[in-house]
Amino acid sequence: AQEEGPLRVYILPFICPGHMIPLLDLATLLALRGVAVTIITTPANEPLVLPTLHRSASLPHPIRLLLLPFPSSVHHLLPQDGQENLASISSSSFHGLYDATFALHLPLLDLLRPSPPDALISDSIFSWSADVARELGIPRLVFHGPGLFALTVHDTIHLHSPHLSVSSDSEPFLVPGLPHRVELTKSELPEPFLVPQSLDTKRDAEKNSFGIIVNTFFDLEPEYAEIYMKEPGRRTWLIGPVSVVHKDKNDLSNRGRDPDADPARLLSWLDAKPASSVLYVCFGSLCEFGDDQLNEIGAGLEASGHPFIWVVRRNLGESFSPRIEEIKRRVGIRGIIVHGWAPQVAVLGHPAVGGFMTHCGWNSTLEAVCAGVAMVAWPLFYEQYINQRLITDVLKIGVRVPGVGGNMLLMGWKNDVVKAEEVARALERVMGKGEEAEGMRRRAREFGKKASAAMEEGGSSHGDLDRLIDELMACREDKGKKPEV
Ligand code: UDP
Repeated sequence: AQEEGPLRVYILPFICPGHMIPLLDLATLLALRGVAVTIITTPANEPLVLPTLHRSASLPHPIRLLLLPFPSSVHHLLPQDGQENLASISSSSFHGLYDATFALHLPLLDLLRPSPPDALISDSIFSWSADVARELGIPRLVFHGPGLFALTVHDTIHLHSPHLSVSSDSEPFLVPGLPHRVELTKSELPEPFLVPQSLDTKRDAEKNSFGIIVNTFFDLEPEYAEIYMKEPGRRTWLIGPVSVVHKDKNDLSNRGRDPDADPARLLSWLDAKPASSVLYVCFGSLCEFGDDQLNEIGAGLEASGHPFIWVVRRNLGESFSPRIEEIKRRVGIRGIIVHGWAPQVAVLGHPAVGGFMTHCGWNSTLEAVCAGVAMVAWPLFYEQYINQRLITDVLKIGVRVPGVGGNMLLMGWKNDVVKAEEVARALERVMGKGEEAEGMRRRAREFGKKASAAMEEGGSSHGDLDRLIDELMACREDKGKKPEV
């Protein structure tokens, strides 16, 4: 590492949108503070990174890109030739891609050895990157996708295994020792609990790292921040919500992907709607519902009577079912169905949006919090059921869609189709009048203000990012003083 000049930080994101997006935003936040940031990714992911590079072009140290090709020995593990990201392939392809990433260890080491950066920030999934950093003699920082409530629930279940006390997948168990009553079922647990060794590897890698960065802010989950950060030896910086870098109304740059809907058209459609009247419906970057479920969601939206923007993730060239085409015709200009990808942060941030039906992915959850929008929670997999408990039971800024079942990715778990009436009822609980809906919307707005305050000068997340940069600088200076071992 060099001893003078800007701090040089390399960032290694995991290659699916929900993991990449917040790290690209963190790259921008660091570059705005004068850090020289380099993003490392595989060639097929270059297009997802380009918008972030472009918007940093006028900064003193524009963000750079370093390409790290997959070795040919693992090409057979990749889901499909040339598709090295999960933006356009099915969520079930995750495992091949994940396994293939282990082969990046040595190539990354070779790539960085001639001129090691001052620090490496990598996704928590890449446990092996802790070894790369150790071999280079530089600090590695873990970037965690989920927030602190989910991480604390994870830790607690991992430590006490309360799920082993129940006999069926659908019987609730209590997560012990938390400030709130949190019950889950085995069918709602994130995948890693099926392979506890993978959790151990991740925790060991965490212990061998310099510290942990989490995309959240203290005032959102203070009790859980205290529990999480109190673990001996754990250093944590809470630096979010990172999506705030896109808060400028004119910033339609879409964090890794060009939107399929014309953002200007969507926003002018929203401009014509009364405040808090529109529902935004989107289930993240990976979820694929079958036509039977999509039909019911469409019918529920139609029955709700509210204007809506509904993002339906479909593969290229795939068309909608005849029933959705009919619904589209009937609702006319009251609803917009986006085929593919919407500029979510801009849509959620528009004052006309009053509710968000979401799969509770952490980025989506935090983006809704930031925008002060209440949620209709429809968790699907990963840690989304845990995030849902935070939204509905702890923060009380949303309701869960009844009848939503277990983790869609768990082997053998089949969800029943949620009917249109249930969808419409849940939407009404958030969009309607009355104390329940108004209370949720009021609390959501308050958290929105706290989120912005955390990111402003003097705010907790702003301060944590400064502290992180200072500590990495100090680390570099210390190293400069010490003789090489
Ligand atoms: N996103 C978007 N437009 C879409 C769908 C998703 O901009 O049409 C973004 C969204 O704003 C969020 C990310 O993709 O930042 C999805 O991350 P999340 O953690 O919510 O869910 P995942 O996709 O990982 O399941």
